[in-house]
Amino acid sequence: MASKFLWLLDNGHGGVIDGLYQTGGKRSPKWDDGSILYEGEFNRSIVNRLVEMLTANRINYVNIAPEHEDISLNERVKRANSYHKQSKCIYVSIHANAGGGKGYEVYTAPGQTKSDKVATVFFDKFKKEFPDIKMRSDMLDGDVDKEANFYVLKKTKMPAILTENFFMDTEKECRKYLMSREGRDRIANAHYAAILNIEEKGLK
Ligand SMILES: [Zn+2]
Repeated sequence: MASKFLWLLDNGHGGVIDGLYQTGGKRSPKWDDGSILYEGEFNRSIVNRLVEMLTANRINYVNIAPEHEDISLNERVKRANSYHKQSKCIYVSIHANAGGGKGYEVYTAPGQTKSDKVATVFFDKFKKEFPDIKMRSDMLDGDVDKEANFYVLKKTKMPAILTENFFMDTEKECRKYLMSREGRDRIANAHYAAILNIEEKGLK
């Protein structure tokens, strides 16, 4: 199967260089055993798993921020938009949530666009992988996605979504899903299932 889309994978925040997390905030509280989840490290662990799966299945992708430095949102968007003319792209920004809560959310920029169709597939595949967890959706516009003027969603020129995978400041979710290998595998698998579905069926 030839890849229909070029998947632009965004790991959202900085990584860890010489033991030093590159992004302010964007981390879990320090848990009782002294452990902390750095969101940028988690986001990378999902992007890196996807890179492996997409490579093995010959689906086209670009990791738009392979560095460990924290690449600015402006630069992430600029890199993504540089592929816009040459390929049919879909932008996927991968994050962990914070602010107290539980479950999964997927965001698009406001308005009805192809992004909403992408978001619905991601939402459904996540629900299938984690049938018992809370799916946070905002049905005001008749779609499961939430809408927000996140910079990367507003400024990218292709269909774009942002996934918020569990809450890093909710200890049980953080430990069970975000800090465990099994949880990370399952989160990556859910993203991959959505990508595969869109590759097979297109965005009609
Ligand atoms: Zn984030």
